[in-house]
Amino acid sequence: MISVDDYRATIIDLLGTAARASLPLAGCAGLVLAEDLRAGVSLPPFDNSAMDGYAVRSVDVAEASPAAPVELPVAEDIPAGRTDVTELLPGTAHRIMTGAPMPHGADSVVMVEHTDRGTERVRIERATAPGAHVRRTGEDVKQGTIALPTGTVLGPAQIGLASAVGADRLTVRRPPRVLVVSTGSELVVPPRKLRHGQIYESNSVMLASAIRELGCSAEVMMSVDDVAAFRSAIEPRLGEFDLVVTSGGVSAGAYEVVKDALGGLGVGFAKVAIQPGGPQGNGRWNGVPVVTLPGNPVSVLVSFEVFLRPALLTSLGHTTVDRRRVRARLTEGLKSPQGRRQFRRGFYWHTEGEVTGEVGPRGGPGSHLLAAFTQANCLIVLPEDVTEVPEGTEVDVLLLTHD
Ligand code: AMP
Ligand code: MG
Repeated sequence: MISVDDYRATIIDLLGTAARASLPLAGCAGLVLAEDLRAGVSLPPFDNSAMDGYAVRSVDVAEASPAAPVELPVAEDIPAGRTDVTELLPGTAHRIMTGAPMPHGADSVVMVEHTDRGTERVRIERATAPGAHVRRTGEDVKQGTIALPTGTVLGPAQIGLASAVGADRLTVRRPPRVLVVSTGSELVVPPRKLRHGQIYESNSVMLASAIRELGCSAEVMMSVDDVAAFRSAIEPRLGEFDLVVTSGGVSAGAYEVVKDALGGLGVGFAKVAIQPGGPQGNGRWNGVPVVTLPGNPVSVLVSFEVFLRPALLTSLGHTTVDRRRVRARLTEGLKSPQGRRQFRRGFYWHTEGEVTGEVGPRGGPGSHLLAAFTQANCLIVLPEDVTEVPEGTEVDVLLLTHD
């Protein structure tokens, strides 16, 4: 049997790191920057007003107060978007809007609220300090400096900054294109009617959504348990994908289509010391990485969490590829098979002021109990050498949610 950690490393190696690609900004959300982004312009690109008001020389309004306003002629009107450079003569004011370029000669802005809002002449009721309400060129980012370093995860703020410094495309790790193949002659896709002996398919939609959540693309395909049909449906299309993930057809029974179809083609099958999800396979089919998962839905999702998720995140260029791990006290005792690392679905919570959280199992160890998984927010990790953990034991928990 292969250890969980060794198998995880094997799958990470198999997927490797995706190539760089230049993508339009709109398609970069959630991806990882693969090259430093240098600012094409400073931010702000020019000195501009932080307020709607009047650009002035602070010396001209030094004596202004509500009781004794200073009155100045308004020589210019500067809305945001005005592209010429105005010149403020001593003893005058320019009406200016937020984001509009500061006139030469002005050193500060009086908020409109501290004036009579005049358009020909303005009565100013407050003094200003030099620099007041002026946003300086480059105070956020200086032109030519690194605005976003390699490895940055592109969330909304990062995408916004990239555009603000003039980028319309970014060099990222190209998201893997994944083909998800479900196998099993018993599978029916809703809304078709079930006959006795048939079940509704769930693995492919589940895997595809897990894969897409990471920023990869996923296409879904169904296969019956027939070696020739399996090969001929996938082989001609291998070139379109960076990874093929199958579910089912790898255990010890007859009609193990994945094992039978790929066994001779460079895909190896092994038992991993994990519960659920022991029967695993991986390799390359015509050069394209293939990962074969077991069939039971809970095994599929646990295998995804433990092996595929870190591998896909590594491929995408992420450096944080593991779920957050915390310690929690078990609210009930659990049993675990000797020699396997068990991942139980659990619900974790943390009372304010407490050092350790608490965790309760959701559903039993059965790998078909998908409904229990929907009530879980974590996986409880029971190590290989542990067979019994009494209530109250502190255990490791992997948090599946961000909150
Ligand atoms: P297998 O390894 O193919 O024998 O599948 C193990 C169990 O998982 C069987 O009960 C299958 O019916 C079930 N199973 C396999 N593939 C799927 C799927 N795509 N959706 C839901 N259940 C599945
Ligand atoms: Mg099957």
